[in-house]
Amino acid sequence: MASNDDRSPFEKHLPAQPLGDSAESDSDESEELEEHEQEEKETHDNPELPTFKSVASSLKAFNADGTVRTIIKARKSAFVNALIHLDGKRFDFTGRNYLLPLYDRNDKDILLKTGRQVEKSTFLANNLIVTSSVKSYNKALYVSPSHSQTRQFSNEKLRSAVDGSPIIKKYLQDHQVSAQVFEKGFTNGSYIFLRSAFRTADRARGISARNLCLDELQDFLISQIPVIKECTSHFPDATTFMSGTPKSFDNPIEVYWQESTQNEWLVPCKACGKWNFLDEKCIAPTILYAEDKLPPGPVCMKCGQPINPPDGRWVSMSPGKSIQGYRISQIMVPWISGLKEQWLKLLWKRDNYPFGQFANECLGLSYDSASKPITRDELIECCGDYSLWNPSGITPEIVQQAHRGPILTAGVDWGEGNDGSERGPSGKVRTASYTVLTIGTYINQKVWKTLLIKKYMGREVDPDFVVSDICRICQILGVKLVGVDWGHGWGVNNVMMRKLGPDRVVQYQHLPKLKKPLKWDPQGFRYHLSRNFIMSELFFDMKHKLIAFPKWAEFEPFAKDILAIYSEYAEYKREVRYDHRHSDPDDFFHSLLYAKLTSDIYLGKSRKYTRDVCDTPA
Ligand SMILES: [Zn+2]
Repeated sequence: MASNDDRSPFEKHLPAQPLGDSAESDSDESEELEEHEQEEKETHDNPELPTFKSVASSLKAFNADGTVRTIIKARKSAFVNALIHLDGKRFDFTGRNYLLPLYDRNDKDILLKTGRQVEKSTFLANNLIVTSSVKSYNKALYVSPSHSQTRQFSNEKLRSAVDGSPIIKKYLQDHQVSAQVFEKGFTNGSYIFLRSAFRTADRARGISARNLCLDELQDFLISQIPVIKECTSHFPDATTFMSGTPKSFDNPIEVYWQESTQNEWLVPCKACGKWNFLDEKCIAPTILYAEDKLPPGPVCMKCGQPINPPDGRWVSMSPGKSIQGYRISQIMVPWISGLKEQWLKLLWKRDNYPFGQFANECLGLSYDSASKPITRDELIECCGDYSLWNPSGITPEIVQQAHRGPILTAGVDWGEGNDGSERGPSGKVRTASYTVLTIGTYINQKVWKTLLIKKYMGREVDPDFVVSDICRICQILGVKLVGVDWGHGWGVNNVMMRKLGPDRVVQYQHLPKLKKPLKWDPQGFRYHLSRNFIMSELFFDMKHKLIAFPKWAEFEPFAKDILAIYSEYAEYKREVRYDHRHSDPDDFFHSLLYAKLTSDIYLGKSRKYTRDVCDTPA
C-alpha cells in the first residue's frame, strides 16, 4: 500500500483529528446547540389545524378570484409566475426557461446539483408555497443539515416570498395561522414544517409529509437521508426534492447524482452546430471579455463563437433512472451570463480559485469529475484485444513465451487485504487495500505491455501465502526484477530478497517532498521517489497510450483502482497531489507503477519525453 502519510511514528499514535478546524467547529457546535434548544421550544409536530370554516372561506375567496381560478388549472410554473412575488415583482421566467420542466413535469424525485447563487433556495421556497396553496391540508417538510441554515431559509426565502406575494398574503394567510420560523401555516389547512438534521434525523422523523425538501444535501450524513425520506412513506403521491452544491468526494450529492438521470443543459452553437456541455471549456480567455471582443457569456467549446444559454435544452446523460437530476451552473443563469460585471466576477473566480472550488461553486460540478487525472475512455483507449496470463493456470506455453520475450519486470504493492469496511481500534474505517502483483514488459521502444495482474483477496490475503505465491510466479516466468513498495511493514521485502536473491528486488519509497523525480539511497538500499511526479509520469504514459492493457472486459476491475485516484490542487504548495477515497483501493496503480519503473530503470529509459512536458519540481 503506497501511503502519502508522512507523519512520524510518534505522530501516528496521536488520536485521529476530526476533519476540519477544531476551534472553529467548537464554536459552531455551541451555536448549533443553542439553536437546537430554541428549535425544541418553538416546534411541535401536531399543530392546531385551522377550522373548517376558515379553510372553506379561504377556498371560496380563492375561487372567487378570477385570476386564481384559471391559474389553478394551469401549470405550476404559470402559478408561480402569477402568485409569487419577489422584491415587489412577479417571478419572471425570462432567461430561466431551464426551470420550467422542474416545476411542470411533476417528477416524484428531483435532485438539483447546483453552483452557488443559482436561486436553488428560491426554487424550493416557490415550490413549497405553490404546492401548499393549491392543495388544501397539504403537509410539506423542509430539512437542512443545521438549524442556522433552516432558520435562514425560513426567514429569508419562505417568509419573504409569502409576505411579498399579495394574493397569498391576502387569501392564504391570517393572524390565526402559524407564522413561526419552524412552521408556516396556510388558511387552507396546509402546513410547511421546517427542521434540521443536526446530529440526528429524529426531529424530522416524527413528521409525516407529502412533499419533502432536503436542502444543502452535501452537508448531510449519508445515513440520515433514507431515515428522513421515510417521512413520505404514507403518501403514494409523495414528492422529494433534494438539492445542494457538490463539495468533495464522499459526498451524498454525488452518490445520489449517480443514481439520477443526470440531466445537463446542453446549449447549441448557431455557428457550428455543436451542443455544448456547460463547463470551464465554454469560458473564453478573460482578456477577450475585458476588451469587449466577446459579449459576457459562454462560448462554443468547438469554434469559440458566443452561445446563448436560453437556447439550450435538458438532455439526460443517464436515462432510465428514477431520480430526475438537474445540474444548474452559474454559466447558464441570466443574472450572471449576459451581465458584464457579474461575468467578470465569474472570470475572476475561474482565474483565482483552485479549480476544484471553481468547479463546485460556479459550475456545480463535483470535484470528482473535475479533477480525475485520467478518464475511463482514456483507459479503454489503452486496451488491446489480448488476454492476461492466468496466474493460477500458468501453462508451459506461457512459460515459453515469458522466457523467449524481452525481459519481464514485476511490481508489488503490499496491502492488508481488507475491503474498506473494517474499522481499526480507534473506530476509524481502515483504508481498503489489497496486495497486487503486476508483470509486464516493453514490446517496443515506447510501449510497456501488461501481461499478468493478480490481486490477493479472500482466502489468499495471508501474508506468508502472498509472498511465496509472488515468488513462485516470478520464478516460473523468469521475471528479471521485482519492484516493491518499501513502506509496508512485515519485513516481507527481506523474505523476498532471501527467496529471489537481493539483486532481483528493487525497493521504492514514496516521498512527498523529494526535489528530484528519483534518487537512490545507498544506506537504505532503496529508491526514493517524488510521489506526485512519478505518479504524473504514469498518468502521462496512459494518456499517450504508452501502456498496453488487455481487453477492457478483463481489465475493468483493475481499471477501477486507477479511476479511484483523484487529484487535488494544494494551493500553499502550488502543486497537484494525488489521493484516493478510503473505500476505493488504488493498489493496482502502484503495482503497475513499480513494475514499469523497474523496467525503465533497468533499461535506462531517459523518460525525457515526459520530463520535457511535466514541470520538473524546482
Ligand atoms: Zn461552435
